[in-house]
Amino acid sequence: MPEGDSVYRAAARLRDTLAGVQLTAADLRVPAHATAALAGRWVLEVAPRGKHLLTRLEGGLTLHTHLRMDGRWETYRPGERWAGGPAWQIRAVLATERGTAVGYRLPVVELLRTADEERAVGHLGPDLLGADWDPVEALRRLLAHPARPLAEALLDQRNLAGIGNVYANELSYLAGVTPWTPVGELRDPGRLVGRARELLDANKLRPGHVTTGDTRRGHQHWVYGRAGRPCPRCGTLVLTARQGTPPQDRVAYWCPYCQRGPAPEARSAGPRTAGRR
Ligand SMILES: [Zn+2]
Repeated sequence: MPEGDSVYRAAARLRDTLAGVQLTAADLRVPAHATAALAGRWVLEVAPRGKHLLTRLEGGLTLHTHLRMDGRWETYRPGERWAGGPAWQIRAVLATERGTAVGYRLPVVELLRTADEERAVGHLGPDLLGADWDPVEALRRLLAHPARPLAEALLDQRNLAGIGNVYANELSYLAGVTPWTPVGELRDPGRLVGRARELLDANKLRPGHVTTGDTRRGHQHWVYGRAGRPCPRCGTLVLTARQGTPPQDRVAYWCPYCQRGPAPEARSAGPRTAGRR
């Protein structure tokens, strides 16, 4: 699942290729929009909203896409070979004189009127990387249901937009509580919300979702993807378990020493399952 900082970078790449120039070719390979004639239109801007991407076109149209689990937007210079996956996984192609943006495995490809964008993204909470980021409103939404487990509340894009499973786990660690801790029991929820913003902002121009400040491979996270390995702070083995109800469940990671609060019957997994989502 992409985090908001990945989507932010995808938007920047798309902007470099598309924004401010005319589409020389466009092909939406989804039944609802297969006949849409977009070539010749100018691309006004590419805006990330949480984990959604809004590509705004001349004539009051917006192409709304979402990456969900493994969708990707790749951009290629003219003549460069497309390498994002087999052709049947391509859902959208947008070409300009600068290059081509190819959307692979996009589960959401929706053409709508720009005036109707709210229908697609209006449910989102304050955008952690948005110019209109509102920490007070984000905190209000996060605490609206005090019994809700922390990671689940952080992943709910209606509370604050942009957090995926890496940050949900790492923020729980940084707050010193397990991902199952009810949000109402957080000692300093405002600090956690501020930290969420800091982390995404620090990572918006680099890959890796670094939460430790250490960009070296294997050192980027406190607990995420580190099941069965020692906690960097105390040396206790990091535990893992599923959290949530299928198919919405995720893998949670935590240090039983550094993080207080409820947790299911845990298992310390070997490297075989490390990194699974
Ligand atoms: Zn620890």
